[in-house]
Amino acid sequence: MWQATATLSRIDRALVDSQVGPRLHSLSARQAGAAARAAAYRLDPRAIVERAALAAADRRVWVRPALDCMAYVTALLPVAQGVAVFAALTRAADSARAGGDSRSRGQVMADALVTRVTGQAQADDVPVMVNLVMTDAALLGGSDEVARVAKYGPVPSGVARLLTTTGRAWVRRLYVHPSTGELVAMEARARRFPPALAELVRLRDQQCRAPYCDAPIRHIDHVIPVRSGGRTTYRNAQGLCDRHNQVKEEPGFCASVARGDVEFATPTGHRYRSHPPPPLGLGSDLELSPVEARVRRLLHTG
Ligand SMILES: [Zn+2]
Repeated sequence: MWQATATLSRIDRALVDSQVGPRLHSLSARQAGAAARAAAYRLDPRAIVERAALAAADRRVWVRPALDCMAYVTALLPVAQGVAVFAALTRAADSARAGGDSRSRGQVMADALVTRVTGQAQADDVPVMVNLVMTDAALLGGSDEVARVAKYGPVPSGVARLLTTTGRAWVRRLYVHPSTGELVAMEARARRFPPALAELVRLRDQQCRAPYCDAPIRHIDHVIPVRSGGRTTYRNAQGLCDRHNQVKEEPGFCASVARGDVEFATPTGHRYRSHPPPPLGLGSDLELSPVEARVRRLLHTG
């Protein structure tokens, strides 16, 4: 109820209290909130309209992980649009249920949301990028590791397998060195990182490499700058966020590569070492490509 009256003057708030207070014993929490909002609108309609216009600029959508490999997709919308979205999904559920659909209302609404937003014919038909890190254990059988879904994060191998067999998944395999566990390097001469190499660095680093920073990667950067003889290679590359990409150009900052780690030196004389997070892999029962199958046979017979 306090939210409904937060922008009113003290006198107006007291007025709302005197109007709604005597009825509180017979109202649910939702009804009390609605009564307080209605009273506030009557007292100061202009302020409410002005705030609504400002609030509409804040409309947005975000996604965050939920338990059991589910995700919350939340939208903050102007009230008319929010109600229209919900009404459209409700109508979809009503007509599906009337046609004998065995899914629950909630399931139909969720599926309709996905198909309409993505333009796919079926909710579980959405394309998804699964990055699989193939270790030698995964290639040769017997590992039970974790895969990574773009824009979501790690998922258990069982779920990734389900995605790759039921959804329209793009499976991208990355190979790690059997003894060091590093993603396989790619060399390039160009100064600008070629897209495939930049993507590999992005997958390796997962977030900004600067110490204590977990911001998303915005730049693929040369650890040792090209002007100082740094090469455009996998080892001399690091993912940095916007802020750290600028900070590292300030006087006194210095970065170098030491045994696969990036070492940062700051103007205050501190040194930090940054090691990329461990790559995530997936189990062995993927269908192997002909080349992979041949490698596997060779390794077994050799
Ligand atoms: Zn950063």
